[in-house]
Amino acid sequence: MKIAIIGAGPAGSNCAYWAAKEGHDVYLFEKEKVLANKPCGEAIFGEAFNFTPIKPNESKWALNYIYRAEIYFENDLLLETETKPLDGYIVNKRAFLEEIVEEAKAQGAKYFREAFVDEKSFDLVIDAGGYTSTFARRKGLSYDGFKFSPALRGYGKTDKIRDDTLYFQVYDFGYAWIFPYGENFCNFGIGGHVNSRDVLLNHLFKFLKLFDVEVSSKIEGAPFPSNGPLSELTIGNIRVVGDTAGMVMPISGEGIRFALYAGSICFKENYEKLFQAKYGEKLRTGKKILDLWLHMTLEDIKELIRTVDPSVLAKVFIEGEKPNALEGIKLLRRPKLFSKTIKSLYLS
Ligand SMILES: Cc1cc2nc3c(=O)[nH]c(=O)nc-3n(C[C@H](O)[C@H](O)[C@H](O)COP(=O)(O)OP(=O)(O)OC[C@H]3O[C@@H](n4cnc5c(N)ncnc54)[C@H](O)[C@@H]3O)c2cc1C
Repeated sequence: MKIAIIGAGPAGSNCAYWAAKEGHDVYLFEKEKVLANKPCGEAIFGEAFNFTPIKPNESKWALNYIYRAEIYFENDLLLETETKPLDGYIVNKRAFLEEIVEEAKAQGAKYFREAFVDEKSFDLVIDAGGYTSTFARRKGLSYDGFKFSPALRGYGKTDKIRDDTLYFQVYDFGYAWIFPYGENFCNFGIGGHVNSRDVLLNHLFKFLKLFDVEVSSKIEGAPFPSNGPLSELTIGNIRVVGDTAGMVMPISGEGIRFALYAGSICFKENYEKLFQAKYGEKLRTGKKILDLWLHMTLEDIKELIRTVDPSVLAKVFIEGEKPNALEGIKLLRRPKLFSKTIKSLYLS
């Protein structure tokens, strides 16, 4: 097949590699001069590297191996825990994507540093243009229920964080993060369901102060899709992948793993079935968990983090997994929270 791919983000660049490797005639288009222009936390969980041609060990782009998390609440440490088996890496996303594009070119993919315009001569068009892309939408694909939430990201310097740990501060509208980014540097940001840059910045600066972070970049904003994947991923000979298709875990904002997976399979006949079977349900449950979070009080959130086993919390946040009955029972001490949890996660 002659395949056009719109965008060399995680979804498009990975698609270019796998489609070219399977012998397709691949044309990858990227409108920006540099890759990974969109702000991102650059954290990738280990499972994602099952879908990529390149691996983190001894790579130039894997900056920190991470397997711990510290969770802060109202500027106090509430919980510190290992996240294994849910470990991963903080990466230099630009270097990571550049290497995937090089691998795709080595497989025969043709790469154009220009915006995609004309689909006429292609058998298949993969819309991997990220949150700004409207290509499939303009061709009639339904975007019913598609929703964004805002996030901000910057870089800074600090010698007050460990290089194996993700730092989070949770709020009733979302969370802030500080991730180690090589020697004495960090990637920081905040995201959530509140539409005010000032509110986000205000919370973020308080969190950065805890670790004496000296801001060394502009703080840039970008939205992330927060309502789960679209119900249809195909219209005619066009398929959507990654952010364009809403493939982001609503509760955490993580999207690279799902974009990489979708990119590796989207040119196959049974693409939709494969994606829905592997991640569709997880992302939809992540949406229910997010709805529950947004209906909790700050006290509820604190109680939840204190009560529920940390390994269960990690699975809820990262994998969109419902806590099992035994964990649920622990919430009986707070009957309102217990009934909200049952209603949101098990009865809806
Ligand atoms: C602030 C923030 C922090 C985040 N942190 C994390 C994190 O730590 N871990 C994680 O897993 N996820 C994170 N995410 C989500 C993650 O960044 C995205 O889910 C992921 O990048 C989606 O990949 P993609 O390939 O679908 O789209 P993108 O990464 O957006 O790539 C799309 C590409 O298409 C190009 N393009 C668009 N239109 C055209 C066109 N017409 N022609 C040619 N090219 C075009 C764009 O320039 C871009 O390069 C974060 C998101 C935000 C906003």
